[in-house]
Amino acid sequence: MSVRRTSGGANAAELTSFGAAGEVTGSCHRLRLEGGTTLIDCGAFQGGAAQEARNAAPFPFDPAEIDAVLLTHAHLDHVGRLPTLVRSGFRGEVVAPPGARAVAETILRDAAKLAAEDHARELRKARRSGHEDRVRPPPFGDEEVDAVLARLREVPYDRPFDLPGARATLRRAGHVLGSAWLAVDPDDGSGRLVFSGDLGPFEGPLHPGPDPLDGARFVLCEGTYGDRDHRDLAATRAEFADVVGRACAAGGRVLIPAFALGRAQTILAELARLQRSGALPVVPVVLDSPMAARLTQAYRSHPDAFLPALRDRLEAGDDPFAPPAFEATASAEASRSLNDREGPLIVIAGSGMMTGGRIVHHLRHHLWKADTRLLVTGFQAYGSLGRTLVDGARRIRLFGESVVVRASVHTVGGFSAHAGRSDLTAWLDGAPDATVRLVHGEPKTLRAFAAHLKDHARAAGRGRDVRPSVEGRPLRP
Ligand SMILES: [Zn+2]
Repeated sequence: MSVRRTSGGANAAELTSFGAAGEVTGSCHRLRLEGGTTLIDCGAFQGGAAQEARNAAPFPFDPAEIDAVLLTHAHLDHVGRLPTLVRSGFRGEVVAPPGARAVAETILRDAAKLAAEDHARELRKARRSGHEDRVRPPPFGDEEVDAVLARLREVPYDRPFDLPGARATLRRAGHVLGSAWLAVDPDDGSGRLVFSGDLGPFEGPLHPGPDPLDGARFVLCEGTYGDRDHRDLAATRAEFADVVGRACAAGGRVLIPAFALGRAQTILAELARLQRSGALPVVPVVLDSPMAARLTQAYRSHPDAFLPALRDRLEAGDDPFAPPAFEATASAEASRSLNDREGPLIVIAGSGMMTGGRIVHHLRHHLWKADTRLLVTGFQAYGSLGRTLVDGARRIRLFGESVVVRASVHTVGGFSAHAGRSDLTAWLDGAPDATVRLVHGEPKTLRAFAAHLKDHARAAGRGRDVRPSVEGRPLRP
């Protein structure tokens, strides 16, 4: 007597989110298939001491059981725990999109350096109180970063490759250099699973929009801005040109805090375009961030990542990230010497939310001057210095000193590296019947986005199984 196997490709897939479920950071999703286990991203938790403490906790799974890691891109909240994963026993390969290696190296080395500096500071403090034994070593150093890079292999877009138990394909996400969404076709024939990673806007300043979704039975989708749309690109560009133009006319210093990955390059490209076309006067532009300078170099080395106009200029050897009077400062001394520089000057520096980095020194030296313009182009979290300034503080404390704010503060929204609600919704229309689980967003945002997607499906006469993903709860995609 023969035993009949159940046909139809029994679905053995199991998916568990260990981060970015009901929150924005800590992306880490384990996909178990019959042929093996893949981790999609292995990111750090960010946003204050309590969040960061989670990075030091052991993984809620055995790193040695992970056969491969797939990186959707190398923002710290997607790549930051990879060195710890390797140190904890992971022995597989790290697969990443083109350009992600250079970005990951810069981001991880910077994180290692900051961790080493924090550790040294805590140790100095602890020595004075006699509690050196309580200071934890940094989670990883350059050695672990080297180990990650030794395992990392870039795979071209649109070319299927093997993952344990599946064939997979990277598609362009248009988010930052080296970003992808991922299509996974399990070997059991149960149908395509898609992981959005972080998706860029359909119309952004640097990258083409995300490749269209072309069918899936399940999508794990980001929802960072699932409850709102950004201002469109043309309006954002016009506002940026207007604000910078008026700031330059005031003759003082223009300070632009910027995230090193993506935003700094966007600002440079905008300034270069506006100054070269004569729409803005040629005022010297300084990039005062060694990390952003390294990342800009990586951007220059990957022309294929960009919109045709930018790509063509890069291939012709004409740097679209360099305004006519441009310099990048390397040393801290070169940064300090900017304080004494006379005349109008545009300074781009990190950190993006003004919580540290060289921008804070520029704020100390120039916020008290009425002809200084602070131009904020990025998200400012509650509690950050940037948020305090945007909210109109007239006096702040910096390095134990009271600083009066006579500078004017301008915000230009719209230069987001994330798709807004309309773009995310239109992208998901490429798999109208797929089950959707939402990650990478605040709980309120993801709930609102889920309700919107349900309404959107209903309006088209369909239904949609969509809800936020729950951390640590395995699901059968
Ligand atoms: Zn990202």
